[in-house]
Amino acid sequence: MKSPLSQPLPAEGKESTNTGLLKLELIASGINLGEGLPSPLTNPFGLIHLILPEGVSVSVQQASDKQQTPFTLLHHGKRFFLNFSGKETPVQWVPPLKCYHKKTRSGILISDILTVHSGLIAVHPKGPCRFGLSGLACRYCGSSRELSNHPPFSKQDLIEAIQTVLKETSCDVVHLSSGHVETEDGGIVWLTPWVTEIRKHIDILISLDLAPPKSNSWIDQSYAMGVDAVYYDLGDFAPHQVTGNKKSEEDKKRYLETIEYAARIFPKGAVLSHLVIGLEPMGDTQKGIDLLVERGVVPLLVYFPPSPHSPLSERWKMKPEEVTPLYTHLFERLVQVKNTPHWVHQQDVLLTPLEGRFFSEKSAGFHLALKKFYETGFGRKVRRSMIGIRRRLRVKHHPAGYR
Ligand code: SF4
Repeated sequence: MKSPLSQPLPAEGKESTNTGLLKLELIASGINLGEGLPSPLTNPFGLIHLILPEGVSVSVQQASDKQQTPFTLLHHGKRFFLNFSGKETPVQWVPPLKCYHKKTRSGILISDILTVHSGLIAVHPKGPCRFGLSGLACRYCGSSRELSNHPPFSKQDLIEAIQTVLKETSCDVVHLSSGHVETEDGGIVWLTPWVTEIRKHIDILISLDLAPPKSNSWIDQSYAMGVDAVYYDLGDFAPHQVTGNKKSEEDKKRYLETIEYAARIFPKGAVLSHLVIGLEPMGDTQKGIDLLVERGVVPLLVYFPPSPHSPLSERWKMKPEEVTPLYTHLFERLVQVKNTPHWVHQQDVLLTPLEGRFFSEKSAGFHLALKKFYETGFGRKVRRSMIGIRRRLRVKHHPAGYR
């Protein structure tokens, strides 16, 4: 039988491994380990970071006994290969950061403070958040560990941890999450001193994961104080996330108003929202994509299979090859409305909107060229200075809206 991975690459019209589908399959089923692999192979959270063909980044878990994965990671000489479907595909292995094992001056392990994904530093929230509470095996900040077990850390610890990471690898964004909150401000009040401290010491972009606040003035405040990008999700993930009737109408209305307003305040592409695949019929998720794209938001499709012990795992059946039309739709809608997907730096965690190109006939040439430019030292400087100029102009000319 032909492997579902052997789909024609739309852009080239020839049959080959579809890298987008390969990434989804790896996220879904994990990987077996061949002989003689280096040690330590994984980051402290059990994730193996690989670069697939065409520079596509993915973090993979070692397959559990229950999972039957067709993938095995092999090591010949200095080269790494992925064995599947009877052939070996060359991949690159990215060694885990050494600094995860370092401690701050107060004795906190760096891996207890943050996780690094491609160009994004994900700071661990003070408690479990939406994905974990929903039963999904989230990979943002330590999928193999109960977050409530992470020790508390201070702002000084965080600054030291980020500076230590930046000595070892370059990152563009620090991402902080409010965790699960039900306060009127959506969590921005608690995060404000942390943002201020990072701004004081480190030149880096900052994104926040927040709950929709009760009033738009909190969104103004987030931008004015130096936040560069925001993620707003519709509370805890549950079936019929955006379009269904599980959430109260009032919550949905406020969520849509929030993202629409935020998209007018923040730079293009810098307002993002997660949509979880597999909790509802695909048609509903597609409608959710349209609702967000129409409001100037970049949806992030999350394909995190549930944790094996979660009740969700009994009814979560979506297979990688079934969900690719959602990624195609997302990529093509963003191209159509000319929104930019360059704020997605956690490329190893999820299949990004730009990677939806692997299932589409439409060209991603312009976005890929811009992405490459932003990854150069000069490109980074240009991007940051444009972001800084925009903020100074907006906050100066619209002071009434900013607290
Ligand atoms: S981002 Fe993911 S790993 Fe981190 S606390 Fe939230 S659910 Fe858990």
